[in-house]
Amino acid sequence: KLYNQVQETKGNIRVFCRCRPLSKSELSSGCASVADFDAAKDGELGILCSGSTKKTFKFDRVYTPKDDQADVFADASPLVISVLDGYNVCIFAYGQTGTGKTFTMEGTEVNRGVNYRTLEELFKIANERSETFTYSISVSVLEVYNEQIRDLLATSTSKKLEIKQASEGFHHIPGIVEAKVEDINEVWNVLQAGSSARAVGSNNVNEHSSRSHCMLSIMVRSKNLITGEGTKSKLWLVDLAGSERLAKTDVQGERLKEAQNINRSLSALGDVISALANKSSHIPYRNSKLTHLLQDSLGGDSKTLMFVQISPSDQDVSETLSSLNFATRVR
Ligand code: ADP
Ligand code: MG
Repeated sequence: KLYNQVQETKGNIRVFCRCRPLSKSELSSGCASVADFDAAKDGELGILCSGSTKKTFKFDRVYTPKDDQADVFADASPLVISVLDGYNVCIFAYGQTGTGKTFTMEGTEVNRGVNYRTLEELFKIANERSETFTYSISVSVLEVYNEQIRDLLATSTSKKLEIKQASEGFHHIPGIVEAKVEDINEVWNVLQAGSSARAVGSNNVNEHSSRSHCMLSIMVRSKNLITGEGTKSKLWLVDLAGSERLAKTDVQGERLKEAQNINRSLSALGDVISALANKSSHIPYRNSKLTHLLQDSLGGDSKTLMFVQISPSDQDVSETLSSLNFATRVR
């Protein structure tokens, strides 16, 4: 419940930092860890930089490589209650390719991530409240690649998808598949269907997924059986494109366009969140498809959680510092 307690004094944005373990190949090639977790319990993370200097960063939570999926979800789950209470929520994972964004959000069959656990929790609480409320839950899975939206649950792929704003305020994408899910047993299959559709049409799945944003949108409609009142809320769960900067000499043609679109949308996200944090009068949602899509769940009384994912390896220290600086800017 910590999230809700600190809500009023701290605004609606939380940043959790998660560091993955050194991989087998990093260990065998002699990479060392630059992460210092001595004060991780207080949300502090140290990064040992060259010349034996240590940079310290402060977050709402710091997860070490020892923390598992359940530890991470335990801190995110209060947001699920907020969704059932009618708030819009956005949870996203940011970081360099290979730092665990997909592991945190999607997870694996045996180590299920935030996406699955969120739906599990939604169903669990909806069930506990079933004497007073009925809930209807539907899921859309989409991908944003080169500023184009692709419906990952659609059976035909030809449609051009655009963002529209409905009269009652919600942004939506006419024609997108909204899969109604009745219980948790249906969820893993829907999520897997979306995830495997990402691969269709790309030669290299991992490369493709590192250059596109994978976005899960969960609509929750509630009705109070006693008063007849209804609420509608939207939860976004987003596995962002890799944040790594490419050397200018390495990229040309299609690859350059991809890189520019990624930079543009991730900077747009940073700009929106820092504008919100600074209570700026203009929030530039329209600068990218990503922020335009997330608009309902960023700002206002909605709640945002960012996972900044990092590698512990000394080889990655400059990307790590750049991700941590991005995350510090939005906090
Ligand atoms: P990204 O989506 O950011 O590119 P991945 O989620 O694909 O990164 O993670 C890269 C690799 O590291 C995968 O093999 C993944 O299983 C592993 N990994 C990431 N985070 C963890 C973690 N916290 N514990 C164990 N393995 C992890
Ligand atoms: Mg990934």
